[in-house]
Amino acid sequence: MIGRFGDERFSFALPRTRFDAILRDAAEAAGAVVREGVKVEDLVYDRGAVGGVVARGTYRARVVVGADGLRSIVARRCGGVRTSPPRRVAFTAHVSDVAGVTDLGEMHIGRPGYVGLGPIGAGVTTVALVVPVRALPGRPGFFQALEQFPGLAGRFDPRRMVRDVLATGPFAQWSRRPVAPGGGALLVGDAADFFDPFTGQGIYSALRGAELAADCLIPALARGVSGPIPRAALQGYARARRAAFTGKWLLERLIGLGVGWPALVERVVGRLARRADLADLLVRATGNCAPARAVLAPGVLAGLLW
Ligand SMILES: Cc1cc2nc3c(=O)[nH]c(=O)nc-3n(C[C@H](O)[C@H](O)[C@H](O)COP(=O)(O)OP(=O)(O)OC[C@H]3O[C@@H](n4cnc5c(N)ncnc54)[C@H](O)[C@@H]3O)c2cc1C
Repeated sequence: MIGRFGDERFSFALPRTRFDAILRDAAEAAGAVVREGVKVEDLVYDRGAVGGVVARGTYRARVVVGADGLRSIVARRCGGVRTSPPRRVAFTAHVSDVAGVTDLGEMHIGRPGYVGLGPIGAGVTTVALVVPVRALPGRPGFFQALEQFPGLAGRFDPRRMVRDVLATGPFAQWSRRPVAPGGGALLVGDAADFFDPFTGQGIYSALRGAELAADCLIPALARGVSGPIPRAALQGYARARRAAFTGKWLLERLIGLGVGWPALVERVVGRLARRADLADLLVRATGNCAPARAVLAPGVLAGLLW
């Protein structure tokens, strides 16, 4: 699926099985040794710094990049993991022949939670139901929960589920330290922070964060020959993240919290329908094609509400 606004393309949707395979093949082509199905169980330390991982044996390394997602063991071992409201969880399934789906994504906001539909080709749609932890529907309740949204009622045939429901979350979790306190490790992607799936920025953050990490690690690795990379040499990564992501963090929190109030969403959507310039700016900012701070300007925020 390709998202468009006017003549411009803003987003692509493809199954993770394909996307992850593209990434893995690119890493291998660049010289990485890939070991799939191997779980990192712990970190090893070298004079207070992270010095490798335990994963069916001990692997020593000058730097460990924790890119192991929301439940990151690297983040937990480095400490400083924080959570905040809203604590939401997602239930995601692949369903074929959903009635009324076009090549555009859809978001449906209700109480409680919201649903995203993303066509991924061959008549299959990713259906993600995101609800507060306290409103967990449980697996048998997935399609019943979808029926509660006026724009979705009657559009699904439960027999057309082509991939079972997977649960993820709770979200709104981040690490206060994207760099290990003693050096030798850093965090990228959801392992570093993930607030809420609504704005669909997670893959961008993971890929951009990886670029920032590479900018820091390549010269740091070239400078020494042995031992973990010291914390001081990794601090540039933490600074680069703040410079690149502070506006995005604020915008995704504003939107992530705002979608908890359907009446507020109605109001903003009404404004966006009348102000194509604001709709364009918001889509660009959440699509990382315009700086988030452009939306956070007081005049723009006021324009979204009044
Ligand atoms: C419902 C939902 C919808 C979303 N929609 C979008 C969207 O439309 N657009 C978008 O950009 N983002 C979206 N996101 C967010 C996006 O999925 C994440 O931000 C992104 O996957 C983060 O990538 P990552 O590589 O950091 O983590 P992950 O994709 O979670 O990858 C982590 C990897 O680490 C592996 N791993 C974990 N623990 C270990 C271990 N101990 N040892 C070894 N390996 C381990 C896992 O198997 C996995 O392969 C959505 C998220 C949800 C929940």
